[in-house]
Amino acid sequence: MRKKIVAGNWKMNKNLQDGIELAKQVNQQVLGNNVTVILCTPFIHLSEVSKVISKDSLFLGAENCASEASGAYTGEVSAEMIKSTGATHVIIGHSERRAYYNEDNKTLNKKVKLALENELTPIFCCGEVLAERESGKHISVVKQQIEEGIFDLSPEQFSKVVIAYEPVWAIGTGVVASPEQAQEMHKVIRHLITEKYGKDAAGNTSILYGGSCKPSNAKELFDKPDVDGGLIGGASLNADDFMGIVNAF
Ligand code: PEP
Repeated sequence: MRKKIVAGNWKMNKNLQDGIELAKQVNQQVLGNNVTVILCTPFIHLSEVSKVISKDSLFLGAENCASEASGAYTGEVSAEMIKSTGATHVIIGHSERRAYYNEDNKTLNKKVKLALENELTPIFCCGEVLAERESGKHISVVKQQIEEGIFDLSPEQFSKVVIAYEPVWAIGTGVVASPEQAQEMHKVIRHLITEKYGKDAAGNTSILYGGSCKPSNAKELFDKPDVDGGLIGGASLNADDFMGIVNAF
């Protein structure tokens, strides 16, 4: 059966000391929880946060990785480097990477493969902007992102991928998707997986919702049958808020 997952995305917040403190607080509260909880931190935090978390109950992820394996790419951080910090996950294709750094599906596909080659679990993000939803294109947009981003993986590779549906209009805006809107898209995504990789693969793939998820709205989202957890931005910056979402399961 697929995993329930709550992953925090700290984005470009918290200096190193504050990040370590937050990780310690989450670590204290997370022990014994049956949800897979992941902290995705800025690159420079990874190796230090790795030292203060109990890795059987709290996992560590990066927010991005390079699209090349190694070499003359000044300022980039490779999947192999991320793995060497103790991280196990990496967010790929967050809408902020797509929008501000022009990351297209082809580039993201390379990143996913590098993550998998380095035994990192990719958390592959997809989602439409408001104009696409309003013009009724949201499903075709997400379909294309998924088909071009991850549907050339082998079944074995695909079985290691986590998907996060994050409508861009809900990210950091306080406007959360309704549980029905989330469920509709998650069901579509699971159907696409069924068509491509079969029913078992679809049933085993965790599909997370992201976008203004808070302790007060998490339960109604997570209650939906195809919503397997959340990717959490703003609310992951406070241990109590973040754990409030984890405990919504
Ligand atoms: C995100 O950045 O992935 C996100 C979901 O942000 P927020 O929870 O702040 O909307």
